[in-house]
Amino acid sequence: MAVAKRSGGPRRRYSRRKVCRFCADKSLSIDYKDVRTLRNFLTERGKIVPRRISGSCAEHQRKLTAAIKRARNIALLPFTASHSLD
Ligand SMILES: [Zn+2]
Repeated sequence: MAVAKRSGGPRRRYSRRKVCRFCADKSLSIDYKDVRTLRNFLTERGKIVPRRISGSCAEHQRKLTAAIKRARNIALLPFTASHSLD
């Protein structure tokens, strides 16, 4: 009967406009070495949080994605050669 009842608790509605964290805080930079910051944009499974949820602007989301991918690569590869990847 009570088919419409939803499980999983109250659904939060984010009516507040989300601002890109990196645009809001100019001192915050996207660095592949800055795992702490990157972690904020990863799910528990290590997936990149989509822009709609993170609220990042397109430009920063792209940089973020690149940084995360780079960080992943470093974690996978040993530091045999040089540290600079540029
Ligand atoms: Zn931004």
